[in-house]
Formats: sequence, structure tokens, C-alpha cells
Amino acid sequence: MLTQLRKIIQEVNNAADLNEVLQLVTREVKEAINTQAASIFLVDQHRSEYVLMATCGLNAAAVGKVRLKLSQGLVGLVGQREEPINIKNAHLHPNFYPDPRVEEERYKAFLGVPIIHRRILQGVLIVQEEQERCYDEEEEAFLVTLCAQLSSVIAHAKVMGVIEGITAINEKIAARDIVTYKGIPCVAGVGIGDAVVIYPQADLQAVPDRRADNIAAEKSLFNDALQATREDIKKLAERLKESLPEEELLLFDVYLKMLDNNNIGYDVISEIEKGQWAQGALRTVIQRHAMQFAAMEDDYLRERITDIKDLGRRVLFYLQEKQWDNITYSEQTILIGDDISAAHLAEVPEGCLAGIVSGKGSGNSHVAILARALGIPTVMGVQDLQLVKVENKKVIVDGYYGHVYIDPTLHLQREFANLAREEQEMTADLQDLRDKLAETIDGHSIDLYVNMGMAIDASLAMSVGAGGVGLYRSEMCFMNRDRFPTEDEQYGIYRQLLAAFHPRPVAMRTLDIGGDKVLPYFPMNDANPYLGWRGIRVTLDHPELFLAQIRAMLRASIGMDSLGILLPMISTISELEEAQHLISRAYHELLEENLTPNKPRVGVMLEVPSAVWQTNAIAKRVDFMSVGSNDLTQYILAVDRGNSKVSGLYDCLHPAVLSALKHCVDSAHKEQKPISICGEMASDPVSVILLLAMGFDSLSINSSSLLKVKWVIRQFRLSFAKQLLEEIMTYESPAFIRFRLEQALDDAGLGGLIRAGKR
Ligand code: PEP
Ligand code: MG
Repeated sequence: MLTQLRKIIQEVNNAADLNEVLQLVTREVKEAINTQAASIFLVDQHRSEYVLMATCGLNAAAVGKVRLKLSQGLVGLVGQREEPINIKNAHLHPNFYPDPRVEEERYKAFLGVPIIHRRILQGVLIVQEEQERCYDEEEEAFLVTLCAQLSSVIAHAKVMGVIEGITAINEKIAARDIVTYKGIPCVAGVGIGDAVVIYPQADLQAVPDRRADNIAAEKSLFNDALQATREDIKKLAERLKESLPEEELLLFDVYLKMLDNNNIGYDVISEIEKGQWAQGALRTVIQRHAMQFAAMEDDYLRERITDIKDLGRRVLFYLQEKQWDNITYSEQTILIGDDISAAHLAEVPEGCLAGIVSGKGSGNSHVAILARALGIPTVMGVQDLQLVKVENKKVIVDGYYGHVYIDPTLHLQREFANLAREEQEMTADLQDLRDKLAETIDGHSIDLYVNMGMAIDASLAMSVGAGGVGLYRSEMCFMNRDRFPTEDEQYGIYRQLLAAFHPRPVAMRTLDIGGDKVLPYFPMNDANPYLGWRGIRVTLDHPELFLAQIRAMLRASIGMDSLGILLPMISTISELEEAQHLISRAYHELLEENLTPNKPRVGVMLEVPSAVWQTNAIAKRVDFMSVGSNDLTQYILAVDRGNSKVSGLYDCLHPAVLSALKHCVDSAHKEQKPISICGEMASDPVSVILLLAMGFDSLSINSSSLLKVKWVIRQFRLSFAKQLLEEIMTYESPAFIRFRLEQALDDAGLGGLIRAGKR
């Protein structure tokens, strides 16, 4: 059955549209479990009804016409219970509801399985036969497994309006509706602009159909890509000549044959000549070949699907290489893609980015953090984005609620433009606080620093009166290039930063790659990237990279006494000691070269639970510490910070996280060492009162949130904040803690701030 399951899923992935998927599933299921009828009902959300969408064994003419209420019949019961129902004789069941149009009276045995995607019921798959019997356990398990896999395909297709399109009435509803997507609101604000779609690289499935503007140019593009792929394969074969047996090497010849002019190459050129662009033609041909292999009985030949797809991806990679140069950004660009990365942001010309929409990621992904620093409205974790349909459309990004409107009416655009104006006015009002202290009513003041990653946010930091840089994410200048920056290149960037803020302190974090931050030119391929080769672990394994970066930082700081070096992802004392040893080595090397850097202050990011519980040992060895609450929250709660499926569990106000923070501050102060916090929670007005009460010496926050945070601090007494902290530490639920903190802000007259953050 596993083989049959794989075959069905393979075919589903290659199917052209939802109707084809549903038809082939009913056909294959009927055959796989040797039964007489298999049918699929899907939920029409607009009318809260089931629609018979496909059948193999019932009356085919009823497809698209027969509708059931959600509580009607055995199908309704399966959906309501959200579990399989397996009945020997359906006629005897009180819920049996034979619709004469379906022609199912002759069937007795019934097994229905719900199709559920992310807790939402999509439909029900049923199988039936004349003989009275219960389907066996294996058959039931087969259908449950199939439905679980099918559910995401169906959820995806619903956005395309396929289901809605099945009746005339729904067609009208769909035509009137503006396509709206829902995701996680990551950066508050409204962005209105033109969609620039970023397609996944080398993903054949994601390639859209497009007419070729110039057939000759597409053909030549394809021939170049084909040639480059052939060269790659030849080089690979050459490299593996010594280590692979003869018969394995023959496989490379097979690949080259597949690509030659009588095979895939010929087919793709024919498709281009019909008017498709090269990428679309390649996708069509590879899918066609994969389908042919999928239908083969021979296991070995069927396995060759993987090779076909791999070859397709390789050619696509070369076709897409040129694509980057051809993107045109409008003055109000909304970046939309399945997985928008920090590198994509860096490509948009300065001042042109108006919004971000991403299929993957959540509020704590690095791209969201960067967007927040830049004040760009962002929605992430948007399921089932139909990229092709969004291309070149007007888009509204509502970063307050996490909604994205495609091709909105002028009326809606005006409403959102008004909202954006109100937000700007509120920010302008806060500008008066720029030169005032972040001081409580009873005279306790705290330093407010900024987090920085891209050069473009330096001016913003200055305009809000930042006291320095609490975290400079140096990896950003490693991301937007195609090789590691040289020591001199780094020197130029760091010098500019230190000079811009001088004499204010700047904490520069050493290269922190891994997790969701990968460099295009330095593949890491960790199966479990957040627990793998990340941060200091990478740079200690590559002392040449670490030393070049430290030397660049030290050279950049000459004549200025403001540099702090911050070490990310420290999880054991030996890592800290090794890093300190290398820093000292770089320092002495420079002295020997007759340069005169100051000894830098060295600090550690506390962002791994083991470091929290060794804060005092770390504090003894360093000059300062900074809590990375973004990672600390993910590691304490075991919740991947970038995974939208579990983003509901990610909460820095979890009591376990709060206890860890308190422990860090107390331990640091016992050793008389200053401690800061640079995770996103420091930028959240709701958390600020707690951080103040815990005793953090400084907060490092997004430039765009700095004035709001200052406003909050200036409305409270430290004595009240401490009382509130004591109360909060007795609570067990993160949701209740947030509620209580919001209440406190509301009582202090800051309710508008909470509402603005959530509107
Ligand atoms: C953190 O983990 O809180 C942090 C500031 O670092 P980053 O978000 O860059 O991982
Ligand atoms: Mg971190």
C-alpha cells in the first residue's frame, strides 16, 4: 500500500489542477482498495455546504450539482466528528441520507474519512460497495494517510477559487470578492504598492506560464542553460571517476543523453516555439516526462523520476540566474514570495520597499526583525500564496491584522491610506521625546540603544536619538554579496558605523550565520539548523574568518574607544575562552604591525539555556552581556522561531522565559557586570515595564520603536513596575500575563499604543 500511496502522491504533485487531482484520487483509491465507489465531497466555505467534486462509481453527472448541508447524511457526520466512520450497512444508520441524484442506494458498506488541513475541515473522502462489510484496518489507515497528504493540496487549490468556480452562483461571488490572504501580522503598519513576486529558485512547480516576448531569445537562453548543465554533469563525472564503480558512472552518460537534442532538449525547444517562455516550457516537459515514468510498472524505472526532476532543477537554476538582473522595482514595492529572505530585501533600491508578504516565516524570523527595524509593514506565514496571480497587481499589506488584499478597489485603497496617515501623525507627535531621557517618574533612567543590520537604518537611529548601538548584526554585510567580504571591505563598513555613532558605544556582534541566515556562497545543509552549526560554532571552526573580522573591527576602532565585541550562541565556557584567545591574538598582531587599537570590551549574547544557567561564570570573564531573547525563547520553549505552524506557542512572556531573564540580570549584577537585552521583546511596549523592573541596564531596540518605548518608560514609576513584576511572576499563563500588562498600560493612559500595535 505504501507503494500505491507514493504513486498517488507523485501523480497528485504532477496534476495540472484540482479537478484532475480529485479525479485521479478517486480513480486510484477505488483501484487500490479494490472497492466499487470512491468519491470526494469538499466544503464550500461561502455557503457552508458540501459539494460532490469527484466520483468513480456514483453518478458522474451529479458532480458539481449535489450539495449537502454540513450536518447532512453520513458525510456530514464524518465532518462533524472529524474522524473516520466505517459502517457495515449504511442503510441501517440513522444518518443515512440517500440523494437519488447520486445513485448510491445499492451500496451498503461505507467508509468516510475527513480531509483536514491545519485544523480546518476541507472535505470528506468516501468509499462504498454493495456487499455488507466493514473495511479493514489497513484500508482505513491507507485512506487516513492519503487524506492527510491530500489536505494541503486541497487547501491550496481553494484559494485559486477552483471549488468556488464549480457553480455559477459561486463564480459570481468569486468575481465580486477581492482576493484576501491571511497570515501572521509581523510588523505593524499599512503598505500599499505594486507586487514584485520572488519565485522560489530552482523550483519547477512554482514556475508560472508566461508568453515568450522573443522566441529566439528564449531558445538561446535555454540552449545556454542546457550547455551549462551538461558541463556540470561532465565535471561531476570526472571528479567521481576514481571513487565510483564503472556501472554507476554510466548513469552520467544517461543524464547527458536525457538532456540531448533528441530528448528533453528537443521537447523544450518545441514548447518554446509554441510561444511559452523557456522556464515554463521546461516545467511542462519535465512534468510530462515525470508522469510517463510514474506510470511505469518497473520500480527501477519509476525511481528515475527523481533524476528527471533533478535535471530539470539544474537547468532551471541556470535559466533563473539571469532573472535577478531583470526585476523592476516600483517606487512602492511590495515584495511577495514563498520564502522572502534578508538578501531579497537588500536587493530593493533604498526607499522603495513598501511592504513584505512571505509564505514562510513568522514574527521572529530574521527577515521580520529586519523589516521591523526598517518600519516596513510585514505579513508572514501566509498559506497557499498564488504567486502567479499576484504578479504586477496592486497590493495592500495590513501589518496590524495580517491581511493582504490583492487588486483592491480604489475605495479600499483610500481607507488604508487614511490609516497609514494616522500612524504617521502619531509617530510625529512622539518626536518631541527625541532629546529627553528614558526616565521613570521617580527618576530611574535606562539607556536606550538600537539594533542595526543594514547601513540604511543609521540615519533613522540618529533621528530618534539613540544612545548607541546595542547590537550590530554583522552578518548582514556578508549576505548581500557572492563571497566573504575581505578584511579591508569589512574595515570600511565598521569604520563608517563607529564614526557615525562616535562617541556613543557600538556593540558589534561577530558573524552569526546558521538557522535561517545562510550565505548563498557558503552552504551549510544542516538537518536541524537551529541546533546545529550556528553563530560562534561556525566561526571557531573557521578561525581565518573570525580573525579577519576581529582585525577589521579593531582596526576600525582606532582612535575611538567605543567598540564592544559581542559573541553569539555561546553555549559553553570553552567557546568563550577560545574566542577571547583569538581576539587577544588579533589585538597583539595589530600591535606588532604598529597599529594602536584600544582593547575592546568583550561581551556575550545570552541566548541559549545553558548560558543562562552559567551567567555568573560568563559574567566573571566578560565586560558586558546582552540577552538575545528571540533565540532564548525558541530554545527554552522548544519552538522554532521561524515556523508559522507553531508560532502560536512562541511567547517571550512565558513564565519560564521571564524567570530565565530575571536570573540573568541577578547573576550579572552579582558580578557587577552590565546587562542589556537586544531581542525583539525589548521593542515591545508591553514587555518594557517588566524589563525595567528586572533591572536591565539598557535596552537595545528597533529604531522605529525607540520613541514609543521611551514614552512608556516615562509614564511609570519604578516602584510600581517592581510591584507589577512581583505580581506577574506568580502567574502561570503567558496569555494572562500579556493581558495584565496591557491592562497596566491602559490604566497609565497608554491604551492607544496597544491598540495601534494591534489595530
Ligand atoms: C536574539 O536571538 O534575540 C538576537 C537578538 O539575535 P538574532 O535575532 O539576530 O538571532
Ligand atoms: Mg540570536
